Amino acid sequence: MEKYLSQLNEAQLEPTIQVNGPMIIIAGAGSGKTRVLTYRIAYLMSKGIDSFNILALTFTNKAAKEMKGRIADIVGDEAKNLWMGTFHSVFAKILRFEGHHLGYPSNFTIYDTQDSQKLMGAIIREMGLDKDLYKTKQVYSRISSYKNSLVTVKAYFKNPELMEADAMARRPKMGEIYKEYVDRCFKAGAMDFDDLLLRTNELLTRFPNVLAQYQDKFRYILVDEYQDTNHSQYLIVRALADRFQNICVVGDDAQSIYAFRGANINNIMNFQKDYDGVKMFRLEQNYRSTKNIVGAANSVIEHNKTKIDKIVWTANNEGEKVIVHRAMTDADEGRYVASTIWETKMNNQLPHSEFAVLYRTNAQSRAIEDALRKRDLPYRIYGGLSFYQRKEIKDVTAYLRLILNSADEEALKRVINYPARGIGQTTIDRLVVAANASGRTIYDLIKNIDSVSININGGTKNKLRDFVTLIESYKVMNQTANAFDLSEHVTKTSGLIRELSKDGTPEGITKIDNVQELLNGIKDFVEGQMELADAGDSLAEFLEDVALATDLDGDKGDPDHVALMSIHMAKGLEFGHVFIVGMEEDLFPSAMSMNTRSELEEERRLFYVALTRAEKQAYLTYTLSRYRWGKLIDAEPSRFIEEIDEEFVNIVTPLKERFNPMLDASIFGDIEPNRVRFAKPKTAKLQKKESMKTMKKPEKFIISTPKKLKRVKHAKVSDASNVVDTKLTVGNTVNHQRFGRGEVIKLEGSGADAKAEIKFQNGVTKNLLLRFAKLEIL
Ligand code: ATP
Ligand code: MG
Repeated sequence: MEKYLSQLNEAQLEPTIQVNGPMIIIAGAGSGKTRVLTYRIAYLMSKGIDSFNILALTFTNKAAKEMKGRIADIVGDEAKNLWMGTFHSVFAKILRFEGHHLGYPSNFTIYDTQDSQKLMGAIIREMGLDKDLYKTKQVYSRISSYKNSLVTVKAYFKNPELMEADAMARRPKMGEIYKEYVDRCFKAGAMDFDDLLLRTNELLTRFPNVLAQYQDKFRYILVDEYQDTNHSQYLIVRALADRFQNICVVGDDAQSIYAFRGANINNIMNFQKDYDGVKMFRLEQNYRSTKNIVGAANSVIEHNKTKIDKIVWTANNEGEKVIVHRAMTDADEGRYVASTIWETKMNNQLPHSEFAVLYRTNAQSRAIEDALRKRDLPYRIYGGLSFYQRKEIKDVTAYLRLILNSADEEALKRVINYPARGIGQTTIDRLVVAANASGRTIYDLIKNIDSVSININGGTKNKLRDFVTLIESYKVMNQTANAFDLSEHVTKTSGLIRELSKDGTPEGITKIDNVQELLNGIKDFVEGQMELADAGDSLAEFLEDVALATDLDGDKGDPDHVALMSIHMAKGLEFGHVFIVGMEEDLFPSAMSMNTRSELEEERRLFYVALTRAEKQAYLTYTLSRYRWGKLIDAEPSRFIEEIDEEFVNIVTPLKERFNPMLDASIFGDIEPNRVRFAKPKTAKLQKKESMKTMKKPEKFIISTPKKLKRVKHAKVSDASNVVDTKLTVGNTVNHQRFGRGEVIKLEGSGADAKAEIKFQNGVTKNLLLRFAKLEIL
């Protein structure tokens, strides 16, 4: 048997080596669903199935990349041929080849959410509609939901119910906006995110030959996180799998958290009806979390009525109970999170990447960030603007998009007067009107400005001509130069860099750095492509990656950071220590999602997802008052806290007790009274004992309040001589519990801040705080 298969338990092995036929794995969090998918692909390949015939659909690009990496470890370079990625990225690739059937150019642009919303905003304005009634974001999500339910413009106008619903919502013009938006995207040679699915469906239904071709190609299809597929995705999978029926889906109904975006939990429930002879597998052993975490999560999800009953157990350690902490305010909550991370990290010598802070709404990150910054803890927020959505980056990529597809209206509007060239908004508006009236693209009009009758004066016409000349020169260069050379040339000659340099502020300088970073990225991409035999148009492919990049992809900067993200974003991920903050009624469960049982159950599944991300320790925090909607409101602990079985939680502060300054000293500053209660005398004692063994110079060890902590000294370092009075000096050989033997190469700081840089024999160099690093001088 292949060696990697021994890394699976029996229940996991069965579906892994089940090669043919439809199959579904329904199993709880952390039970190895993703691992089975990964190993199953390796196994299929080892059984002679061609990597070109396998399609794996994942929830994020990052997950796809990691899976591919793992498969490559097992099967080698063949893994490169696998079709693996998110629905959007895989089907964008197919549409590049096949989009011409639907009238799209192969170099179609992908409009990201920002582009789509800008266009919708423009349409609402052009139609003279009330922008308070027609809020761009609402219009966007409405149109998105039509598309994901495969309601085309034509279907919309044949559906009185939909039209009535929009009229009732005081948006009777929705259909017209929808139509205009779709027409404009089409004319611009652009697809938005939803089009990537909608058009694929259209392609596979209208063109049976194309469908047959891809059915034949994708003989084995695997889908992760199946519970979160929407109708459009579901239909694509079903169409493609219809011929060979070798389809393997994995998921957990208890983790379905995207109903609000059209995901349909019934896709998982009905799988058995969709195919003949479905084999169903269950995995029950959780490998991720401690018994306490698994127990807590199980007891929470029990409260949902709609669910597939399943068992989740673990052979892992009991671990610590889930800690529930009450804070006064969000700032106080942030302080608690930061100081707990800091202390845990120091006590256990953990990297920052072991910690994650999860929240229900992105707005909650601010207070956490402030607190982490004060502690100098590096962090990264996921799910904000992706790198590629920053203004300066979008400006550069808009030029590149325009070079490839000059019909791209959003790209053109972005750069036609940036950097400023004296082409004003009035001119642009007139061009838009003329373009709409004539069915031509704006670029086409400008290019032929002399033969177009339009009210634009001679001076402005000259400027427009110059702009076209500039873009045309880039197009010529694109025929021979590689994507990197072209992009670098564009940033220099378009005036973009010059424009950014004018702004001497640190923000301005960061923007220039970002542009440089983008260029580096393009360079890497081009170099990576040169290794590929069938490298296509590198600029087009790079731009596609950019459009579909999410914030989870392509980690930039130091990977050792605390991760901050919304719970939705954390799906499928795992961290040693997880803080779930803002555990308050109306926040989590969200006030907007408590109207029906099914909404509340989705919130509870979200909580289940959050809890099950933790491997070793989960913390739940709530505040007594919080600023919301501009007001300080009294908050109440979330009902979800009480739903956890008592035996798995450690409620450090009573849930219902009102704030009492006499009891709760944290109002007096940084002292956190809960910390005192945390400190089990045993722990302190144990540490003392260990210190006596290792440090030879026992000091007082009371882990209580941060203030007292400061008094704990292991080693005094005289700044001048850099010599520690505990005999620790540069050159000493020391032993560390986790890192083993090493040599002291630098000492700095004094008292509680005394640090030593130690080069360990295992090759790593660490900067350790002496009062926590239990060093033994050898
Ligand atoms: P989720 O529902 O959160 O997506 P999952 O079911 O996909 O979870 P995995 O992410 O595949 O679970 O596995 C959870 C963790 O357990 C991973 O760290 C994985 O490497 C580990 N794991 C899974 N199976 C085994 C096994 N048989 N032996 C050791 N570790 C395992
Ligand atoms: Mg998974």
